[in-house]
Amino acid sequence: MNNLLRTLIYDGQVSLTVANTTEMVKEGMRLHGLSNLSAYVFGKALSAMTYMSACLKGARGEISLSVKSDGTCGEIAVSGNQKLYLRGYIGNTQATGEMNAQNEKDCFGHFGSLTIIRDDGYSRPFVGSCAFPTNGDIDSAFEEYYRVSEQLPTRICTCVELSSDGECVFAGVIAVQPLPFAEQETMEKTWDLPLAEILSSLRESDVETCVKQRFGHTSPVWELRRAVYQCNCSREYLSGVLVSLGEEQMRQIIRDDGAVRVHCHYCNTDYEFTDVDADRMFPKK
Ligand SMILES: [Zn+2]
Repeated sequence: MNNLLRTLIYDGQVSLTVANTTEMVKEGMRLHGLSNLSAYVFGKALSAMTYMSACLKGARGEISLSVKSDGTCGEIAVSGNQKLYLRGYIGNTQATGEMNAQNEKDCFGHFGSLTIIRDDGYSRPFVGSCAFPTNGDIDSAFEEYYRVSEQLPTRICTCVELSSDGECVFAGVIAVQPLPFAEQETMEKTWDLPLAEILSSLRESDVETCVKQRFGHTSPVWELRRAVYQCNCSREYLSGVLVSLGEEQMRQIIRDDGAVRVHCHYCNTDYEFTDVDADRMFPKK
């Protein structure tokens, strides 16, 4: 089912994106076995990156996030592509504490930086980064990134809700970004939008209904899409990487360790390559 909608509101002056990321957060939690607080922080970053992936232009576009901070969560990395396949990991999968504003900051970090590498598939990737804003939360860090690095004032609101037994019952993201020609009055209206409230109406409805109810369906731009949590690793892809390592080195590792073991951090999957694989990868001429 489509879970993401991008459209224009206020006479085409403001871009609006709304996504229900519940299933994606659930999949991330399942793959990584996340504690509630880790799931909360990771889910918010994953949701914000879902929005950023939906903004990619080229057909081969890719975007990745790296968060480094003094927080208890360790490093957070999330990557997404133009197909809206998202994947990621959080260094500390077992952060402890209730989900509240204080613990969100302690876990995500009070001091840190957010780095984005965006490759629209045309030329060289764009690399941008920003320091966390003081007294900010996760959403503010992404807003700061847009302000500092892209010079695009943007409001982002993410939500992750877990039940008492640690199941994700709702997650989503809403983002508004005035286009460069937006009028002052429109900008003010945009900043005043109760984003959290609009997002929470997604609990009971799909993205189309949620947006129609609040803003109507006035723009010809109406992109309904499906975002999923999906890793792009595979045995085939990794075989290709190992071929570039060379036969001699691969055989040596197999002799020393019994197998070449590769771990994918994004989907928490282990791969093993043995002599049988090496025979296949390096056929005798
Ligand atoms: Zn993977």
